[in-house]
Amino acid sequence: MKLATLAVHAGDRRKLGPHIPVTTPIYAAASFFYEDIGELDRVFADEVRGYCYSRYGNPTRAALEELVSTLEGAHRALACASGMLALEVALQLALVDRPKRVLASDALYGATFKLLDNVLAPFGVETRYVNACDLTQVAAALEEFRPSVVLLETISNPLLRVAPIDRIAELAKTAGTVVIVDNTFATPILVRPFELGVPIVVHSATKYLAGHGDVLGGIVLCDEAHAANLTVLERTCGPVLGPFDAYLTMRGIKTLPLRVERQCENARQLADWLRHHPRVERVYFPGLPEHPDRETIQRLLPNGLYGAMVSFELKDAGRDEVFAFLNRLKLIVKATSLGDVHTMVLYPAMSSHRDVPPKQRERMGIRDNLVRISVGIEAIEDVIADLEQALAG
Ligand SMILES: *Cc1c(COP(=O)(O)O)cnc(C)c1O
Repeated sequence: MKLATLAVHAGDRRKLGPHIPVTTPIYAAASFFYEDIGELDRVFADEVRGYCYSRYGNPTRAALEELVSTLEGAHRALACASGMLALEVALQLALVDRPKRVLASDALYGATFKLLDNVLAPFGVETRYVNACDLTQVAAALEEFRPSVVLLETISNPLLRVAPIDRIAELAKTAGTVVIVDNTFATPILVRPFELGVPIVVHSATKYLAGHGDVLGGIVLCDEAHAANLTVLERTCGPVLGPFDAYLTMRGIKTLPLRVERQCENARQLADWLRHHPRVERVYFPGLPEHPDRETIQRLLPNGLYGAMVSFELKDAGRDEVFAFLNRLKLIVKATSLGDVHTMVLYPAMSSHRDVPPKQRERMGIRDNLVRISVGIEAIEDVIADLEQALAG
């Protein structure tokens, strides 16, 4: 079945007693019991499927996990309290029985650098960074550093580079290395990393999956080989998403295929408009013919779906000019986060890359005139009109 069908059907409509609810309800229960105590014993022993305690499993969370697992083609999923927690669980999962060495892309979400350098490094996890779009660099690092894990994002933030994850998965497989892909920006509508040989995938569900700016959540997905250890982490630590947020995320995902298609089309039009605007110096968008990863994009992304993030540089502008431009916006929401139904704008030097020293930021290609837009589902004319008046000011 197609993703648009699975998005509204998978995980839902389980028989719960004599009736079948059309959507899985919010099970705000910490524990579950049975009329016969022997049944609870069998549930604890994993002899029958059932619920006993919400850290072990909760019907609302399980419905969401089944839904995302189905969309990504994973063996198992765990819904976590945030995207960052999902990343931590994924790294723990991959490193538990392997040497503590991570080869990471040098273009990651800001907090992911902190997770590696400040949270995991004190526990002996050693990280080396490479340009994930440069296969020669990746191959050399695999050979020399012998990492247990390669960590990268499908579409990077904020310069929107697209890594050849199929080729990296191949190289990693030969080297016996586990690949973790943060698929937040691409969503399963654009890229399904399991089909490319990736064993562990992570999402910040806060973004496109939930999609409405009302949930903080994350998802870890894995293949069969990692499933048992994921269950150990789930049951022991309970890094889980609560039933209310699981419900909202599931509700959001039902329209994920519709939203993403509309957002991608809007982004395409916006990128094209920005490219011709005299106050815009440069546009970053995977759909542009001059994109440095053109070949990978043509191979990995569906035709016409290039994601819904667009970044651009304002001509002859520094921080003050960028702030003045942002303050003139009336419709576009000036807030951190992305993937919501409304269009949002963010200034990476102030937010996602605030803690990166200016020199290093410059080296990463993130200049002080760079603005990032997460395109929503509005009529794109209205978004363009807002940018037009703000750029004219
Ligand atoms: C937002 C984001 C995260 C972190 O997710 P939270 O839900 O904010 O914890 C991780 N990776 C990427 C690519 C993100 O955009």
